[in-house]
Amino acid sequence: MTEALVLFSGGQDSTTCLAWALDRFEHVETIGFDYGQRHRVELACGARVRERLAQAYPIWAQRLGEHHNLDLSILGHISETALTRDATIAFSAGGLPNTFVPGRNLLFLTLAAAVAYRRGLKHLVGGMCETDYSGYPDCRDDTLKALQVALSLGMDRRFVVETPLMWIDKARTWMLARDLGGDGLVDLIREETHSCYLGDRGTRHEWGYGCGECPACALRAGGWERYRLGGGG
Ligand code: ZN
Repeated sequence: MTEALVLFSGGQDSTTCLAWALDRFEHVETIGFDYGQRHRVELACGARVRERLAQAYPIWAQRLGEHHNLDLSILGHISETALTRDATIAFSAGGLPNTFVPGRNLLFLTLAAAVAYRRGLKHLVGGMCETDYSGYPDCRDDTLKALQVALSLGMDRRFVVETPLMWIDKARTWMLARDLGGDGLVDLIREETHSCYLGDRGTRHEWGYGCGECPACALRAGGWERYRLGGGG
């Protein structure tokens, strides 16, 4: 079985995961979720990223299969967060930012597994990361391993949840991209991928577009700076 389904949002992490999967698997499909996120611009970026990857890397173009887009507007109805409402991003007493949509990744992976089941894809690839993340409990390695077991049992089909970014920080995510696709892939990620929670694509920084202030921009900017100081970029 050398087929994978990548949870693909059009951001830096999921684009790096897509490149990682295209490097390893013979057939790779992608899945994205529209849940009324304020940074919906990432969905358009995702289509452009797929196009540019296929243009720049002919072997990957042969492996890249279809994209599945799922309407998850229900998520915006059941959760009040700064990702789906016009609210200021802030941190709660428990340390979680109000960008946290409870159980979002559980839902995403469960739906991805349902699509993967139908499409005959064994590996589910996601950009979850425990290293320098915002503290979302559904990004933790234990959560995802438990989910792998639950999905495999619940659908009576062996799924493997792959999280290539789990133990690396944002600087090493840029390094991974360079290892996979050279400086051309790093440049493609800087230019075409979107991370900013506010959906800002008007302000260009060295690391890409974004407001420069929100937690997603801060992580991306910090990682780029360390990557650059380490001899990359
Ligand atoms: Zn931002």
